[in-house]
Amino acid sequence: MFGCMLLRWSPYTLELRQPFTTATQSRTATPAMLVEVEHEGLVGHGEAAMPPYLGESQASASAFFAAAAPLLASHRDPFLLEDVLRDSDALAPGNTAAKAAIDIALHDWVGRRLGAPWHRLWGLDPRRTPVTSFTLGIDTPEVVREKARAAGDYRLLKVKLGRDSDRELITAIRSVSSTPLIVDANQGWTDREDALRQIEWLASQDVRLVEQPFARDRLEDTAWLRERSPLPLFADESCQRLSDVPRLAGVFDGINVKLMKCTGLREARAMITVARALNLKVMLGCMTETSCAISAAAQLSPLVDWADLDGALLIRNDPFEGARIVDGKVTLTDLPGIGIVRR
Ligand code: MG
Repeated sequence: MFGCMLLRWSPYTLELRQPFTTATQSRTATPAMLVEVEHEGLVGHGEAAMPPYLGESQASASAFFAAAAPLLASHRDPFLLEDVLRDSDALAPGNTAAKAAIDIALHDWVGRRLGAPWHRLWGLDPRRTPVTSFTLGIDTPEVVREKARAAGDYRLLKVKLGRDSDRELITAIRSVSSTPLIVDANQGWTDREDALRQIEWLASQDVRLVEQPFARDRLEDTAWLRERSPLPLFADESCQRLSDVPRLAGVFDGINVKLMKCTGLREARAMITVARALNLKVMLGCMTETSCAISAAAQLSPLVDWADLDGALLIRNDPFEGARIVDGKVTLTDLPGIGIVRR
């Protein structure tokens, strides 16, 4: 139908190469939705990746898309991204991954129509992409040693902490690898004196930063820790959307921006700008995702200090090819839009 924007969606299950374990959960698959926006015969691709602990599901996303479809049909011009995405955000609270899927698909459509990738449309230098970390999930010391050995090409490893065996885990990695580490406590620490001692020890193990030491709302304790910590503290669970950023200045040293938390590229870019204005560092992160959402996020990566964009490497059934990790660095392509092709 000429002049109309069509939204299509289908469930997709991301199969993990290895069970993924953090302080709070363990799983072998991630539910996702693949989305297409079609307009004037051209298709843009998007994706919602929904780890269950974040509260979205294929059912909730389907319901959101069913509500968004008439909205997209009524907006006749995908170039009016600001209007379409503002209205999509206003349809219902939450649903940030479903909203991100629409945001990504619209950006992909616009870039494809213009014949240019978004990093070019934003004026970003693809040579300035950051090093990306590769995540080692919580496991036995033997398995973690094996994983650390296998990740030899990466220049930065990320380790999920927040259990009693944290030091054992780091020691196991250090017995086989001298690659710098970043650690993510995933809100798992409770006592601030213990947290400080832990960070002081981690600093002696060439750990470069600590993500989300305490529960998301414990900003006073985080600020106390930051004043004393030899390592920078980054907000993940404490930083979901743009409106969260201002209150994190002076509490954390940086924020972890993820498309699935913040409704997509439009808001992620604004978060990076605001963070910069507040002198906060920026990490660009991800869930387990296909190369669709990863390549979309990668378009922004020349703007950030750190990337944690290994999500597509953790799944075995990626239906797309896009931005890749080469020699530990995010590597963009010249493909238009978000830079993907179907496998
Ligand atoms: Mg995190």
